[in-house]
Amino acid sequence: MADIITSARADGRTLLTEVESKQLLQEAGIPVAMAHLAKKPKKAVEIADELGYPVVMKIVSPDIAHKSDVGGVVVGLRDAKAVRKAYKEMMERVEEAAPNAKIDGVAIQTMAKQGTEVIVGSTTDPQFGPVLMFGLGGVFVEVLKDVAFRVVPLEGRDAKQMVREIKGLPILQGVRGQDPADLEAIESLILRVSDFIETHPEIAELDLNPVFAYPDGALAVDARIVLTEVPA
Ligand code: ADP
Ligand code: MG
Repeated sequence: MADIITSARADGRTLLTEVESKQLLQEAGIPVAMAHLAKKPKKAVEIADELGYPVVMKIVSPDIAHKSDVGGVVVGLRDAKAVRKAYKEMMERVEEAAPNAKIDGVAIQTMAKQGTEVIVGSTTDPQFGPVLMFGLGGVFVEVLKDVAFRVVPLEGRDAKQMVREIKGLPILQGVRGQDPADLEAIESLILRVSDFIETHPEIAELDLNPVFAYPDGALAVDARIVLTEVPA
């Protein structure tokens, strides 16, 4: 835990990679689709073989916060051949889109089954300190700003209210024959994130976008942590 933050500090970095962020989150008991770093195509294939197919490949760079924007996310890789090809093509795309970014390699992770996309995030408010955000993913947060906020630390009641006060709640409760999402699993994830933020003042920002909400459970498939500028 301390190692990841210390080494980022030593590099003069505030942005942790997805691999680093998910390691910290997993240690804190937050359910994540673990991401494993591969610096070479051969290693990417080894990891994928071990995890089992299909897998997802993502670019790992301390200079890239939004991986899809640079062609740095490929889902549904079905075999070793697809992994090797994707590695080569991803490097070419990213080199083109972000020529100055330092590239660590790629992250290989199990492809999670699709769930309802929700977002759990935190920012630091100059007045209130760490604040936690919850909303539905995609257009709901980007266009409609349908989000709920609470000041950290949260109590069980806060998490319950947050999940239920967004306008998109019916989508989580199951519309048009879709199974309802496991609201308790979302609440529990929110509370663990609150604990994590409370106990780590060196974290300025956290983004779990998206978290897949399932009829049974919830899983963060992307994670981004930004440290404070000056060691806390
Ligand atoms: P970005 O840095 O662009 O936000 P993400 O890691 O969020 O990249 O990946 C983009 C999209 O790919 C996600 O919104 C999600 O729909 C899908 N995705 C990412 N990781 C996984 C995974 N492990 N399993 C299934 N889908 C995934
Ligand atoms: Mg994302």
